[in-house]
Amino acid sequence: MIYVILICSLTVVLATLALLAWYVVPLLNRSAQVKNIQGICRREGLIVLTYDDGPSEKLTRRLLKELDELDTKVTFFVTGVSAGTRPDEVRALKERGHEVGCHSERHVNALKSLPWKAGRDCSRGMKTLERLGIRPKFYRPPYGNATLGTILASRAHNSRVVWWTHDSGDTGGVPGKANSLLTAITSRLGGGRRRAQEGDESGLLEQRLHPDARAEFLAELDRDGGVVLFHDSDRGHDALDEYTIRVTREIVERARESGKTITTMEHVMSLTS
Ligand SMILES: [Zn+2]
Repeated sequence: MIYVILICSLTVVLATLALLAWYVVPLLNRSAQVKNIQGICRREGLIVLTYDDGPSEKLTRRLLKELDELDTKVTFFVTGVSAGTRPDEVRALKERGHEVGCHSERHVNALKSLPWKAGRDCSRGMKTLERLGIRPKFYRPPYGNATLGTILASRAHNSRVVWWTHDSGDTGGVPGKANSLLTAITSRLGGGRRRAQEGDESGLLEQRLHPDARAEFLAELDRDGGVVLFHDSDRGHDALDEYTIRVTREIVERARESGKTITTMEHVMSLTS
């Protein structure tokens, strides 16, 4: 009888540890990476502009035109579904010299789905991009949420999971530094940063009500550099698209004044140990 109790207890302990590792390892990884890349960007004077969720029907072409005018190369994290729908746009990103990373197939939230789904979504996104002739070196998890399965799936495709140091606020949130480990956990449990939904103007209103946060965000980039999160998706708000374009231009122009270099994710990650 004592052996049965021991085996049951051991099984429960091991299962709990495995579950913890499944969700906690990516959080620790994220926290360490954000600190590491922020340090590199500060030391080397670097800024990386990244655009998730595309390619989109309207914004991608506008962004490409704007980035051409600014003579700036950035990093796009595209989803398999969007890339499969708009392969010409994906090819245009590559032809213009931008870096293309993977952002899953169907944008599955790792913390709101069954434990194995996020890793599978990562693999499917990678395979879709590989069919389009792209072998992404980097994977950005949807909503910044990942499991150990996500990391393993990404590595199986010779790709590294990467996060960001600053949120541009182009989905209606407050622009600024990425969440710390503690706030990341609490905000993920609470559903994460609220995004502006179609027909929801309060996100825009919130943005307009936070000029100080935006000024502080831009000043931080002038001073410390960093990896900035934007979105290249059809959000149903022309004003949000305008915001993405305008803040992109502002960051590039200010970087030139402050002596910062706009570079790609690959460059920054090549400097990590
Ligand atoms: Zn996304």
